[in-house]
Amino acid sequence: MSQRREFLKKAGWTILGAWAAGRLTLSPAPARASTPLPLLSETDQMAKTLGYVADASKVDTKKWTKRAGDAGKKQFCYNCLLYKAAGDVKASKQGKCTLFPKNEVMGRGWCNSWAQNPAVKD
Ligand code: SF4
Repeated sequence: MSQRREFLKKAGWTILGAWAAGRLTLSPAPARASTPLPLLSETDQMAKTLGYVADASKVDTKKWTKRAGDAGKKQFCYNCLLYKAAGDVKASKQGKCTLFPKNEVMGRGWCNSWAQNPAVKD
């Protein structure tokens, strides 16, 4: 492979990595603005890809096995590391999610990117 082609290949991966790191950061979402964002629709393409549902009790656990079983039943947006809401997150109706910066998600929603927030107990 030529040096030029090798350089272009590496540059492409670097740009892709930087884009992904900026878009999919695992840091908590910023504090909720005073004006709520529109709620995320389950028909949003990325929401569908990640299996987001506004009511976690309606997750198809045959398809999304991460939420199957007793441990899975405890997974909600409100106790996800990527969720942020003002006040008591467990009592929050909706809040922001790092993965969906233009929308808010339901506190009792869920998606397959769920990750336990160690600061929020069940
Ligand atoms: S489970 Fe977490 S990552 Fe998924 S939509 Fe809810 S807050 Fe966002």
